[in-house]
Amino acid sequence: MNSWPADRPSPLWRSLSRERFSSAPLSGNHRADVVVVGGGIAGLTTALELNARGRSVVVLEAASVGAGASGRANGQVIAALTRYGPDAIRQTLGKPFLELLSSAADRLFGLVDRYGINCDAQRTGWLQPAHTPRRAARVKAMAAQWVACGAPARALDREEMAARIGSDAYCGGWEHRGGGHINPYAFTVGLARAAAGEGVVIHENCPVTALTFKDGLWRADAMGGTVSAPRVVLATAAHTGDLWPGLRRTIVPVTSYQAATVPLGAMAAAILPGDEAFSDTRQDLRYMRKDREGRIVSGGALALQVAASTRLPRLISGRLGQFRPELAALPIEHVWGGRIAMTVDRLPHLHRTENGLATWIGCNGRGLALACAMAQVLADAVCDVPDAELALRPTPLATVPLHPFVSRTARMILPWLRWQDSREV
Ligand SMILES: Cc1cc2nc3c(=O)[nH]c(=O)nc-3n(C[C@H](O)[C@H](O)[C@H](O)COP(=O)(O)OP(=O)(O)OC[C@H]3O[C@@H](n4cnc5c(N)ncnc54)[C@H](O)[C@@H]3O)c2cc1C
Repeated sequence: MNSWPADRPSPLWRSLSRERFSSAPLSGNHRADVVVVGGGIAGLTTALELNARGRSVVVLEAASVGAGASGRANGQVIAALTRYGPDAIRQTLGKPFLELLSSAADRLFGLVDRYGINCDAQRTGWLQPAHTPRRAARVKAMAAQWVACGAPARALDREEMAARIGSDAYCGGWEHRGGGHINPYAFTVGLARAAAGEGVVIHENCPVTALTFKDGLWRADAMGGTVSAPRVVLATAAHTGDLWPGLRRTIVPVTSYQAATVPLGAMAAAILPGDEAFSDTRQDLRYMRKDREGRIVSGGALALQVAASTRLPRLISGRLGQFRPELAALPIEHVWGGRIAMTVDRLPHLHRTENGLATWIGCNGRGLALACAMAQVLADAVCDVPDAELALRPTPLATVPLHPFVSRTARMILPWLRWQDSREV
């Protein structure tokens, strides 16, 4: 397993979470229909889906549920991919996947409602402000494509966007009213509580160290015991190790940092007054949402990781000041980080073997809602639905060229992306 530094600070979301979950350690040898490796949103929603189809499921999580990206995310619920609009998605991944993606936010908020998950869910919409007139024209066209798909989307002009976000730093953009934001840690823990309540067996602090296949059964060797099952779902995302040799080399794991200000107090009413979440059109993305206590939660990446806990707040304060000058002096109270699985084509990939192992990987920073939708595809994949009938067609593992070099140096592309962003301005 690819572990992360133990001293990485715990996300703000943990201290705000009203959802709690704990599990018994794995002990001895067990049997199930499906073993799921990874207790993030992908693993837990897939476990719920399989359980609903009558399969017995055991989830094995190396640390605690929500310890990965799921508990560390910004919490924006976005039913769209970063780089591609509906037309391009239909062309590259097919109509069934586009329909699945379109339903992703409904699925996430549906789980919140069905299981009463206390995660400060706000379905207030998602905005994409454009940082240049050219980008504004491009996202306007994108909004029209989403409207044609039946999505509750709309292009916004400069004034409308300024009123919605509380800053005139942008040239318009578009909104998707199906989106919103959640406390992602509380959502993940709530999923674990719901899954356990439905009969899914979950073991935390249980890193799977080996997966072997013999006589029609997979055996997951983990701390404390083993679980054998004819089907396995790997939901290890950017923390993927070598359980499926080659999978790790299909992605580039990128560290993304999060920063939360002190609560805004009276100023809160002026920033995102409608309480939407937003991510802009830059390649080096700028984004923010408020938490339930009125903090701005934003984030970014650093080309050099050294002294991140002091450099990141400086970066974010500078950006907040460009967004609205009085925000530059706002103290940053929390900083944490997490790992995102990036793919070269910026698309999610589904992989399966003939003997019952399946995974999807490559959220590219937009995986909260997508993971809830992909649960159906992963469940189909391990319930022997043929490739041609899956909403996302499986592909063979494709190694990122020069993977060891690229995964170590990928972040060095940031200055180049920032230069491109500024050149457009
Ligand atoms: C800083 C940050 C901000 C983000 N912001 C957003 C956002 O605003 N909106 C959005 O849509 N997406 C966002 N994302 C992406 C989103 O968080 C992820 O796509 C999503 O949470 C992935 O869920 P997952 O279950 O696939 O992976 P994870 O939550 O990473 O779960 C994988 C789990 O597998 C476990 N694991 C790994 N190896 C083993 C093993 N050998 N044995 C047992 N368990 C193992 C890990 O401990 C981990 O808990 C963000 C990501 C980061 C890091």
